[in-house]
Amino acid sequence: MRDKIVAGNWKMNNDQSQTEALLKKLKHLDKPKEVRVMVAPAFTQLYQSTELLQGSGISVVAQNMNAADSGAYTGEISSGMLKGIGINAVILGHSERRSLFHETDEILAEKVKAALAAGMEVIFCFGEELEERKSQAHFEVVAQQLKTALFDLPASAWKQIILAYEPVWAIGTGETASPEQAQEMHAHIRKLVSENYDATLADALSILYGGSVKPNNAKEIFTGKDVDGGLIGGASLNAEDFMAIVNAF
Ligand code: PEP
Repeated sequence: MRDKIVAGNWKMNNDQSQTEALLKKLKHLDKPKEVRVMVAPAFTQLYQSTELLQGSGISVVAQNMNAADSGAYTGEISSGMLKGIGINAVILGHSERRSLFHETDEILAEKVKAALAAGMEVIFCFGEELEERKSQAHFEVVAQQLKTALFDLPASAWKQIILAYEPVWAIGTGETASPEQAQEMHAHIRKLVSENYDATLADALSILYGGSVKPNNAKEIFTGKDVDGGLIGGASLNAEDFMAIVNAF
């Protein structure tokens, strides 16, 4: 049985007092035991978040990191710095990092290797642009992203990988992939992993869907047999909405 996971990506939202208020609510809302719940606050709120969530079963994830261990990289954060404050997982490859900060799959491959070497779990995001879907290139685009960023990893590394398929046209737009589109792509992704490694590894891999998941559409999206949960942006900023999504399985 692979993990069911719901992760909230807060992006550049929530200062110290907003973080405290949101996490206190989250901590007290009911969640099913079989779902792993994660939140990804801004760097400045990570330590505070691990303290506030102690004993809650909710884990804290970083939104990004640099591939280097240390050095002249002004404004950057290393895996060691994250591990040092108890952060054991990181989101890499989010479409905003790709489009606004020019992170390519080659750059991401280095970041993934650094995170894995530090013993961290990686939520790896990828997905096609609207034009690519319109031109029916989406299956090939996703295959290429995975090949460049992940498919030269050893099989043993995949225990630390969670995939998050996020069609760019659905992120923050209110437009969601239909449950059929999500399932179709997730099955394609699992097949690619199976072909590059083996069926056992592919079967054990959690593949999340991200892109305008809300309390009113989560249940339908999560019914896909290859959809193992969600990476949630906007709706993760509201405790009740986020927990409704966690409870949508
Ligand atoms: C995201 O940023 O990863 C995301 C899925 O955002 P939203 O849920 O707001 O579309």
